[in-house]
Amino acid sequence: MLPTSLGARLVIATVVPLLLVTAALAPIFVAQLQTRLDGARDAAATRLDAEYETLLHDMNESFNQVLAVAELPLLRRHLRDVHDGVAIYRQISTQTNLAQLSALLDTLTTHFGRYSRLVLIGVEGEELMSAGTRPLPHPTGVDHAHADYFREAMRQPARNLYVSPPRVGPSRAGAEAGTTAVIDIATPVFGADGHRLGVLLFTLDWHYLTARLPHVVGEEAGVRAVMADARGRWLLPDVEDGIQFGGLLEERYPAFWQDLETRSQGEMPLDEDLLRFRTHDIRTHHYRSQAGMIMTSPDTQPWRLGILVPRPTLSALLLGNPWQLLVIVLTYLLAVAVGVLWVLSLQRQHQLRRQAMAFSREAQRLAGEARQYADEVQDLYEHAPCGYHSLDADGRIVRINRTELGWLGLRADEVIGRRLYRDFVSPETRSAFQAAFRRVLGEEGEGSAECELLRADGTTLPVAIQATAQVTAEGFQYTRATVFDLRERKDLEARLEQQAMTDPLTGLGNRRYLMEQAALEMARARRRGMPLSLVAIDLDHFKRINDVHGHDVGDRVLQAFAETVREQLREGDVLCRMGGEEFVALLCDTDADQAMAVAERLRQAVAATPVGTSTRIDDASSGASWLSYSASLGVARIDPAEDSLTPAIKRADQALYAAKQAGRDRVHARFEPAGD
Ligand code: GH3
Ligand code: MG
Ligand code: MG
Repeated sequence: MLPTSLGARLVIATVVPLLLVTAALAPIFVAQLQTRLDGARDAAATRLDAEYETLLHDMNESFNQVLAVAELPLLRRHLRDVHDGVAIYRQISTQTNLAQLSALLDTLTTHFGRYSRLVLIGVEGEELMSAGTRPLPHPTGVDHAHADYFREAMRQPARNLYVSPPRVGPSRAGAEAGTTAVIDIATPVFGADGHRLGVLLFTLDWHYLTARLPHVVGEEAGVRAVMADARGRWLLPDVEDGIQFGGLLEERYPAFWQDLETRSQGEMPLDEDLLRFRTHDIRTHHYRSQAGMIMTSPDTQPWRLGILVPRPTLSALLLGNPWQLLVIVLTYLLAVAVGVLWVLSLQRQHQLRRQAMAFSREAQRLAGEARQYADEVQDLYEHAPCGYHSLDADGRIVRINRTELGWLGLRADEVIGRRLYRDFVSPETRSAFQAAFRRVLGEEGEGSAECELLRADGTTLPVAIQATAQVTAEGFQYTRATVFDLRERKDLEARLEQQAMTDPLTGLGNRRYLMEQAALEMARARRRGMPLSLVAIDLDHFKRINDVHGHDVGDRVLQAFAETVREQLREGDVLCRMGGEEFVALLCDTDADQAMAVAERLRQAVAATPVGTSTRIDDASSGASWLSYSASLGVARIDPAEDSLTPAIKRADQALYAAKQAGRDRVHARFEPAGD
């Protein structure tokens, strides 16, 4: 599971490349380091062997010189003379020997700078001769009797050597007074007859011998020599880091010394260095050369000779090559940069993915809303209380809603793309539709018309169509029309029209209705040449009925009258209430005589039809209060040449007036136009 915070990721992006680069480079450096270490070891071992051989060679040379000088006949003879007590200064030959011997010792000192002292000692320890000083025919006065080298050498057989441990002693013979590290090498001198004649002592300048060893700084940087005796005493000149000739290694490097003491040769780390060492024992055969035995202070042997070389380290390896270091640093930087960039790019991708998901969710939500909205709109479109349709430029139906399909009684697949809308418009209203459609296609871009739609069941449906053109940059696309069902409006209009021409009390037409009907009938009568008559009717003494029986009874009388008269008339005749208790009957295809007869029949029917005055049924059924009434009628002929009914009405009224005057309940006529 990767951490989610950017900080933690960046840390990983930094650490992981560092580890990877380190893992890749480490084997290379380890191998390089190993190679250098091997090189350092080899160098130390080679150097150690060389130094060892040189020291061995120099020591052996010194030993051989001591032995060779001890066996010189000249030296023996001199010692013999001394031993025998010969008066040396008196004998020429002895004088010559002395001079020659002295010259020999001087030569040795001069040619081999390693000796600081060459001394010939008598058996009593008296110094007989010393290089660098004038040869004396008698002892020099220096006494060696108590010196170790003298006492040890005096105990040894011929060809044995005594070698002292290095010690601080006088520097080179003849030089200015000074001290250095020295080693005394002493051997007994015997006469030809086996008599012990004395001791030959060579004092070796030890520092001169070891001067070539890299004590402090060798020719190779950091290479140093280490040399100590068996007790750990430092055998080389003082070194800068504090250890002095004769000082104890144990005090300076206790752990190192403990380790070194137990081993005769090998390798060990010492601080920053690598130590390669081996032991020197001057008593071994390697050193004996021509000597018999080599004696020395036993607790000082063997010596340990070592070479210190700097131990190769990683930092030295890296710092040793600046270019390599630069490449490594650049590699690390590059790796870290790649890691960081990778993490930043991941972070960016992550952000973008999250944003994309959020957008996607929002888009889905909006799409859902849009779908729902579209469904709602579609539902509204399909089931709106009005019709919707769209037509192409040819008038073909490209879209139509269910409401309108329901009106037409057709399915969508029977109509869409197949039918012209005008085919569903009744022939009577088609021209209005076409005119409106042309306006929609034209500059106005809109138009409306009231039409009748032809329905599948054969009926028609009055509608109002309002359309606009849907125009885009590419031009006209289709029309968009809203279709309103006009049935209710038409019905209402018809009802209002009806009401406007109907008397509410009797249900008969009113004066306006009469005028309209009369115009139609007069036109028809004119067309057909048929007669047309008019009868004006007024109830007699109606005021009295109201007064006596009440207004309600009066109303009922009016209704009963209308009913009675209508029953008497034909289908095509028109009976209207002109107002109050005055009525008019328009008789079609009826001439004056026939009209007189009809009027008379009407009068009789009225007179013969009493009206119940009680509103209660039992009263009516009992017949207790029936009201008889009568009417006066005036008949007039309608002249087809007249363009209005008014003159005819006037004549009928005059006839009616005459009937009233004549006593009521009768029919009078006035056929000729007024004024005749
Ligand atoms: P005449 O025989 O001369 O015609 O006498 P009349 O009483 O019938 O004549 P008049 O014209 O003086 O009276 C008509 C009366 O009819 C007056 C009025 O109160 C009554 N009337 C008019 N319209 C209505 C109606 O709708 N209902 C009722 N009940 N009475 C009406
Ligand atoms: Mg009247
Ligand atoms: Mg009247």
